[in-house]
Amino acid sequence: MKIGAPKETARGEARVALTPESARHIQKLGHECFIEAGAGEAAGFKDEVYQEAGVTVIQGAQALWDAVDVVIKVREPTEAEVEWLRQGQTLISFFWPAQNEALLEQCRAKGAKVVAMDMVPRISRAQKMDALSSMANIAGYRAVIEAGNQFGRFFTGQVTAAGKVPPAKVLVVGAGVAGLAAIGTAASLGAVVRAFDVRPEVAEQIESMGAEFLFLDFEDSADGAESGGYAKPSSPEFREKQLALFREQAPDVDIVITTALIPGKPAPKLWLKDMVEAMKPGSVIVDLASEKGGNCDLTVPDERIVTENGVVVVGYTDFPSRMATQASLLYSTNIRHMLTDLTPEKDGEIVHNMEDDVIRGATVTHEGEITFPPPPPKVK
Ligand code: NAD
Repeated sequence: MKIGAPKETARGEARVALTPESARHIQKLGHECFIEAGAGEAAGFKDEVYQEAGVTVIQGAQALWDAVDVVIKVREPTEAEVEWLRQGQTLISFFWPAQNEALLEQCRAKGAKVVAMDMVPRISRAQKMDALSSMANIAGYRAVIEAGNQFGRFFTGQVTAAGKVPPAKVLVVGAGVAGLAAIGTAASLGAVVRAFDVRPEVAEQIESMGAEFLFLDFEDSADGAESGGYAKPSSPEFREKQLALFREQAPDVDIVITTALIPGKPAPKLWLKDMVEAMKPGSVIVDLASEKGGNCDLTVPDERIVTENGVVVVGYTDFPSRMATQASLLYSTNIRHMLTDLTPEKDGEIVHNMEDDVIRGATVTHEGEITFPPPPPKVK
């Protein structure tokens, strides 16, 4: 089959779904690889390097979409791109079907098969295709690097001839994939790291990474925990206790990284205006929940603001794209693992097996039907 990646069209998007390295693996499955001219440029992959890896470079987006059987992308397509999809063609990309109903219907009407990378079930067997985790890992790392860039002091404590420097105190709110990456990064830079999550089961993971888990004295410790490892909205009583804990922390911490999300809901507001006002000048907040409305009251999506009391609030929503080389390497690896499962005989033939839990879970349109939401996975 012919598999190709167009240049991403979303403003500022620097990632690419095919790298020279992933192309080599995809070719071993019996497929041919194609790339739109210049598609890898912003991520550091030049056309010549793709050519050396056996990839055919095609001029122009529509020509690329026309030439291939399977389009691989990072972002969901635009309406104009979906117009280029044809009957029986496959599209593999992030898609967010719950938020993009009209786009989903457009793909169904075109008779295309769409595999949404954000719908890959989070079961052990599918970890190698879990692009949400790959990107969250990068976002957590980059949030700390960004905080360090905005912060005027060292992370690590030092005793120097010119005086003693205290370590920076970092608070991470939400210890999912991004939060744990942020904890690991901040701890490795020598900061004193504290973290909180509504799911008490993450305490051990937080502590194993060298951070302190902030315990909340509340009779139902699992108040905000949902089954399956996700969070649900907390009760008002729990929320009040949590806010009181954060109010105590606010004057003491230098850097706050917020990552708290609840599936299908706006991000909970957890770092309120009075907490920002209680922070020391020069402190930094990086709000990784910015795209979902933000955990901090003062976050402005895609902006960096400085408050009157000198606190920097970073609301960028494109952290993985800010590390486009690393993000493309990981994302393209997730994609090629998906293609491996779609090519069971490694003979260049795609078998879209809807009996396979992972393929079924991620497929959102198939043979003229919308196949989202999927049935719950049978295996763990
Ligand atoms: P997420 O992005 O949905 O949420 C981030 C974190 O915010 C979560 O840990 C959540 O508990 C926390 N949170 C929500 N409300 C909060 C509040 N009020 N205060 C503090 N924290 C709050 O989470 P995610 O990173 O997508 O991870 C979700 C789950 O999926 C985790 O249990 C993770 O271990 C699991 N997971 C499993 C696999 C796998 O098995 N293949 C892969 C990745 C993630």
